[in-house]
Formats: sequence, structure tokens, C-alpha cells
Amino acid sequence: MNKIVSIGLDAGSTTLKIVALDSAGEIVTTLIEPTHPLIEEQSERLIIQIKDEFGCDEGVVVATGYGRKLVKRATKSLTEISCHARGVWHEMKQPGTLVDIGGQDSKVIRIGEGGKAVDFMMNDKCAAGTGRFLENTAGRLQVSLDDLGPRALGAEKEEKISSTCTVFAESEIISLLAHGVGVDSILKGLHRSLISRIVAMIHTVGLVPPLMLSGGVAQNAAVRAILSEATGVDVILPERPQLMGALGAALVGLDLKKK
Ligand code: ADP
Repeated sequence: MNKIVSIGLDAGSTTLKIVALDSAGEIVTTLIEPTHPLIEEQSERLIIQIKDEFGCDEGVVVATGYGRKLVKRATKSLTEISCHARGVWHEMKQPGTLVDIGGQDSKVIRIGEGGKAVDFMMNDKCAAGTGRFLENTAGRLQVSLDDLGPRALGAEKEEKISSTCTVFAESEIISLLAHGVGVDSILKGLHRSLISRIVAMIHTVGLVPPLMLSGGVAQNAAVRAILSEATGVDVILPERPQLMGALGAALVGLDLKKK
């Protein structure tokens, strides 16, 4: 197996992601772990672990994500915006509009030729437009993360959720359940509510198709379907959407090695 020359580390608010590349830009290994409160120690441990396991003589580490400044071994640190744009460009090979929905923030990024972020908008103030919104409410409904999307898509009815705040949405759910409303109908309404916030951001930035999706929430089939329905365009996504920030960081690391 080839040795690692570049490690991209995305210290997200919910998960820490790593993509390690060899000198040809091929992926040697990847890793996803819940973000630890002590990011500095966690990133140190994981970098040492994969270097020991796969071999790495003079590799570079490029950090991104909200905890990037805490990655002490990083040769360079970059914003998630540029790293997501770079990673998605590498995988999809076309300009367009990228929606990244993570655990505690969401972004809409216009990707131009060459994978440059030409415009973007970010929401990291309101949980209702992020993965946390579905996670909290799914917890309340006792539905697993993997079942969220399929159950929302299979719902025969849709219950409108009027609360615009995660905390109030939870109270609203309790009240709906007490009135005998079905769990799947509530789930569909919750997905619609999340997507309405994302669509507002897309309109602010301007939709230039194709519409691409990244981040952990991209793995939710109902998010993909409802986003496509709400915008009227197809939604496409890379094979491993949650790893796009780490991949973009690793590709920047590879550029540094070649300089
Ligand atoms: P961050 O970079 O902000 O840490 P991620 O891009 O790693 O966030 O995404 C984390 C979010 O992805 C969480 O809110 C989680 O609920 C969601 N998620 C992860 N896996 C799945 C899945 N299989 N189905 C639906 N949502 C998922």
C-alpha cells in the first residue's frame, strides 16, 4: 500500500473527519468519529494513529472545520467553505450550487470553475436549519438517524410544523403526538421545515444548477427528495458527502507537497 503524503482533517462541530491521500491523490484511508470536547488531543491521537498504521514520512496536515485552529500539527488551516468547494469540485467536476448541511451549521456555496467558492452564505446561528434540528426531534420521536429519511418519505400525510425554533418544535411535536398525529407525518413536516430554511438561503445566493449536496445530512434520502421538489431541480451528490471538507483539505495538502 502507498504511503500517506497528505492528511485533510475536518474538525466539525459534530464529527471529526479525516481523508488521507498518497502522492498520486488516491485515498489511502478515511475516518469519521464524533467530535471530542478536547479537539486538540483527539486530532493529535488520530493523526498519530493513521500515520503509524499506513506510513507517512514527511506528510502535511491541512485542517478545516470549526475546530481547525486547535489542530496543532496542521501545516495550514482553511475555512470549510473553500475546502468543501474544492472537495466537491474534485468529485463532481462541474461548477454549480452546493448545499452543505452539517450538525450545527448549513452553507450554500456557489462553486465556480476550478472549484473556487465564488459566493456563499452560512447559517451557524439557528439550529433549525441544521442536522441538529432533525436529530433532536428524531430523539423525541424515538426514530433512529438512519430511519428518519425513509419514514418521512413513506408518510401518507404531512403535518405542518409551525415552530421556527428547535426547542419549540419539540414542544409542538409532543402536543401533536398527544392529539394522535402519526410519527411519520410529523417527520415529513420536520423535513419540509428544515428544507424551507435551506431554500431561503439558496435563493439569497442564487441557484445555478446543478444543485449539489454535501455534509452528513446529505445521507438522508428525504432531505434530497424534498430539496429537489422545493427547488424544481435534480439534486446530485458525491459518493461520500460527509467527507468533502476533509477531502478538499487533503487536496490542498497535496498541492503544498508538489510546490
Ligand atoms: P459537522 O461537519 O458540522 O460536524 P457533518 O457534516 O459531519 O457535520 O454532519 C453531521 C450531521 O449529519 C448530524 O447532524 C447527523 O444527524 C447527520 N447524519 C449523519 N449520518 C446520517 C444519516 N445516515 N442519515 C441522516 N443524517 C445523518
